[in-house]
Amino acid sequence: MDRLLTGLQPSGSLTIGNYCGGISQVTKYQNEYETFLFVPDMHAITVPQDPVALQKNIKQAVGMYLACGVDATLDNMHIYVQSENLYHANLSWILECHSYFGELTRMHQFKMKSQKNESFTSGLVTYPVLMAADILLYDAKYVPTGIDQKQHVELARNLAERFNNKYNGNFFTVPEPMIPEVGAKIRDLVNPENKMSKSTDNPKASIFLLDTEKDIRKKIMSAKTDSDTLVAFDEENKPGVSNLLTIYSVFAGVTIEEAVAKFDGANYGELKRTTADVLVEKLMAFQDKYNEIMASGIVDEAMDKGREYTNEIAAKKYDEIRRAVGFGRV
Ligand code: ATP
Ligand code: MG
Repeated sequence: MDRLLTGLQPSGSLTIGNYCGGISQVTKYQNEYETFLFVPDMHAITVPQDPVALQKNIKQAVGMYLACGVDATLDNMHIYVQSENLYHANLSWILECHSYFGELTRMHQFKMKSQKNESFTSGLVTYPVLMAADILLYDAKYVPTGIDQKQHVELARNLAERFNNKYNGNFFTVPEPMIPEVGAKIRDLVNPENKMSKSTDNPKASIFLLDTEKDIRKKIMSAKTDSDTLVAFDEENKPGVSNLLTIYSVFAGVTIEEAVAKFDGANYGELKRTTADVLVEKLMAFQDKYNEIMASGIVDEAMDKGREYTNEIAAKKYDEIRRAVGFGRV
């Protein structure tokens, strides 16, 4: 089985964007690939976090993965917490010494997140290298992701090739991003030029998987559209309306063409109401399942099983790499 790997930062409650770009692809392919699904808590502290909230978010993240349909009982499914495996940081250091400051400071995500505050941590610059380590440690072939992380997967590809060439060997599998055809960039509801994010400063901009029915309806009904009246899919000129059509399409399980046909002649109010109805139906069912999962012991069981297995694999890979660069004794 080829390997697939992805992670979603426990920097807050997951959004419908995280579902579309990340988790939905895991559930789609979980019977086809050996899946490494981790909670990147080490990535989360690149920006300030409240330690109590972070710990809570880690467990909740796994509860949400499972409530979205990830099957922890599969032998080929490994769910684990990044900081419970010390090889990620060790490999990251070696890869940092094979990456260039210039290539890291040119990353879109770095530019966007570093502009938010006057000062930022060095971790915000180097975290794409840690992400490369996360991927390369397990020889993952596919990395499900939204558009925003495509550039980071490309860095992982470059680092894998650079390392393999430098040390003359097939040390790392060169990974490929796996980007969904629909929903690769769910947009911010207030500023539809931006992507929706879980660590947004404006809670009205994102729909969280744990939002109440009232909040979901309120946020969708006040989502920014445009001064036109035509419901049409045109991401460049009508980003707000196209975003609502995309959300409807993913959560109603229809294609964009079918969504456009459904709203032919409808006004923006109808598009919003129907999109909110579909979201409420899906997210309320999700929340029932989530509450059941959090009340059971399966989240800890899954994380314990994943920790054991992934530590074994990572230890072997790290040993090979450490020898290749000349660490340790002869
Ligand atoms: P943060 O604001 O803390 O960076 P985030 O919402 O960007 O949170 P990440 O944890 O950085 O979420 O990313 C988790 C996964 O979700 C990644 O695969 C990423 O590509 C995907 N993703 C994030 N935002 C979106 C979005 N708006 N549309 C589609 N996919 C997304
Ligand atoms: Mg992000």
